[in-house]
Amino acid sequence: MPRELGYHPLTVADVIDETVDTRSFVLEIPPALEARFTYVVGQFCTFRATVGGEQIVRCYSMSSSPQTGDPFTITVKRVPGGKMSNWMNDVLAPGDTIEAMPPAGLFVLRAADTPIVAFAGGSGITPVLSIMKTALATTAREISLVYANRGHGSVIFADAIDRLRAGSGGRLSVHHHLDSEKGFLDAAACAALVGDRAEADFYVCGPGPYMKVVQAALDQRGVDPGRVFIERFELPDDAPAAGAESDTESITIRLEGRKRRVRYEAGNTILDTARRAGLSPPFNCQAGNCGTCMAYVQEGRVTMRVNNALGADEVEQGWVLTCQAIPTSREVVVDYDR
Ligand SMILES: Cc1cc2nc3c(=O)[nH]c(=O)nc-3n(C[C@H](O)[C@H](O)[C@H](O)COP(=O)(O)OP(=O)(O)OC[C@H]3O[C@@H](n4cnc5c(N)ncnc54)[C@H](O)[C@@H]3O)c2cc1C
Repeated sequence: MPRELGYHPLTVADVIDETVDTRSFVLEIPPALEARFTYVVGQFCTFRATVGGEQIVRCYSMSSSPQTGDPFTITVKRVPGGKMSNWMNDVLAPGDTIEAMPPAGLFVLRAADTPIVAFAGGSGITPVLSIMKTALATTAREISLVYANRGHGSVIFADAIDRLRAGSGGRLSVHHHLDSEKGFLDAAACAALVGDRAEADFYVCGPGPYMKVVQAALDQRGVDPGRVFIERFELPDDAPAAGAESDTESITIRLEGRKRRVRYEAGNTILDTARRAGLSPPFNCQAGNCGTCMAYVQEGRVTMRVNNALGADEVEQGWVLTCQAIPTSREVVVDYDR
């Protein structure tokens, strides 16, 4: 197994009100876990809690920057009707514990000299703030932030961002977009905000429709997709349906020392297929984030709908997130035990 999975209880050291519907949670990392909870700015942790008798698993990005001496902090915005975000905002208090997996994620600050253009929407500011703080503290890069929100009251970290801008010696420029004043940001306005910075590195994180608009604008400006880093907080509506293109007939699954060949039905992921066959492989978030369901593809080919957990080297070696893995060859052999 190339990475450590599994939960560790972390104690809440402090809770900070950010806006009417958003709170930050400072988490204590005990000395024995410091190495395991070392993170790269932009990464997230997967958290597990029992809410109303049900076990819930969700991901939250760190809003803190280790390079500026911040304590380990996540920031959670309420989602109307949402289970975990409301439980955290209503119930989780200093002294309580919450279970967390070590940090993961690929939305991280790439080492480069190019300017940075960040598009954040709502709670999407969380990993972006962490990235901006570190880039300002450790590089000479120029940063432009476009930050969209519904209205004044929903701007998370308004003061912190203003202080960063004021102390940046002109390196950080901030464009606040408020829907309440100008309606939703559209692709033409986004493209205008990119201006002549098509050679920058772009960091994009926000609600689904906002991401679509920003991506359209970046395409329009001819930005190289290799320079665009995206963090999705929700599964995109247009993620390909599992099994749509495959002529896979069976999958052989190695789990807990036993090998089983199971029938594959179009529309299912490898994880679905294993569970339908009565197997109990490990899984958690089922959204391509936490990495718990990873397995090694010994034979055949698969594609992943979403991958927020595995690095390019791990994918290259043959690891997949089975909750997102669609078989694309007639026969596939996956190994959960490796
Ligand atoms: C990598 C990553 C990083 C993230 N980082 C952050 C972060 O830093 N800060 C942050 O605030 N969020 C972050 N998120 C989002 C976060 O993980 C949660 O998705 C979010 O908090 C909502 O979770 P919830 O349990 O409150 O809502 P859920 O209970 O999952 O509900 C979400 C929505 O679905 C609706 N819904 C739920 N159940 C049903 C149903 N049965 N039928 C119809 N509708 C339903 C709810 O009404 C709500 O609108 C991140 C996500 C990812 C993947």
